[in-house]
Amino acid sequence: MKVTVLVGGVGGARFLMGVKSALGLPPVGAGPEGHPHSVDAVVNVGDDIWLHGLRVCPDLDTCMYTLGGGIDTEKGWGRSSETWSVSEELAAYGADPLWFGLGDRDVATHLVRTRMLRAGYPLSQVTEALCHRWEPGVRLLPATDDRVETHVVIDNPDAGGEDAPPQVAIHFQEWWIRHKAGPPAHRFASVGADAANILPDARSAIADADVVLVAPSNPVVSIGTIIAVPGVAQALVATPAKIVGLSPIVGGRPVRGMADACLAALGVETSAEGVGRHYGGRGQGGLLDGYLVHTGDTAEVPGAEVREVPLLMTDTDATAEMARRAFELAGTPVD
Ligand code: GDP
Ligand code: CA
Repeated sequence: MKVTVLVGGVGGARFLMGVKSALGLPPVGAGPEGHPHSVDAVVNVGDDIWLHGLRVCPDLDTCMYTLGGGIDTEKGWGRSSETWSVSEELAAYGADPLWFGLGDRDVATHLVRTRMLRAGYPLSQVTEALCHRWEPGVRLLPATDDRVETHVVIDNPDAGGEDAPPQVAIHFQEWWIRHKAGPPAHRFASVGADAANILPDARSAIADADVVLVAPSNPVVSIGTIIAVPGVAQALVATPAKIVGLSPIVGGRPVRGMADACLAALGVETSAEGVGRHYGGRGQGGLLDGYLVHTGDTAEVPGAEVREVPLLMTDTDATAEMARRAFELAGTPVD
């Protein structure tokens, strides 16, 4: 079976471990040669950012480290046994921005990536090269090789001056990490999306899949940003595979993080149903054939079949069970 999963960072990476496990692949690391099942992940690049001359791709790296066994499992992102000398030295220079923690081990990844990008390799090939070390056992496909970055439109904190615009757009990372998603977002902009194109391998991963899963990732700045890349929505509409999504909202709240602040900007209620209706049922021109919500949550999504199953990724077994239930709902069960 060929499984394609749309993913962001922490939620997406954890879900991928469960998908692998449900397919009989090791959750971490490469599977055996000739295994009958394969997983392709179409990964959000909207969080990507240049910092101190380095190209940082948080969601790709979270997936790569998680599936390769190099993640800080407690935080859910960044390298295990990380140290912070580089960040401390940068701070001693007052070298902006100081709000993004770059771990020493992590920096090595960004150095290799940046060097390869500067030599002319596209992000997809750079990712593949980095994965030679990590062997995530999943093909990690950036949604696009083009530069597409999420910016957030907020009230101008320096408004009041004569020529000061009432609103400004800041990089998503600045809003998320520096401001902890505090200033209300008026809207999100996918800067560069107009001129971007879906990665051809991502297009064929969606077209040729037996089933497409939408991870319980942030619906706005992870999944929404992937779908905003020209060609992705078309590929999803056209694929003969069933598309099943899993709610990242449980009991009216994000399980982790601040997805509610993102949904609010779109006027979408922070609930399993709100997200499901935002994605829409495929029978009504939306994304999903099927939608899983957490036990006790209810959702009516016209055009999609909804089922209630436990959706807490407490460990790999629980997460594998979520994937199995998604495969069942898609009509492509695995034993
Ligand atoms: P990020 O890029 O690191 O923010 O990660 P993602 O976008 O991939 O995932 C973030 C989303 O994962 C958040 O909105 C969380 O609510 C969701 N999430 C995290 N853990 C769980 C879980 O155990 N179950 C479910 N259903 N959602 C989860
Ligand atoms: Ca992310």
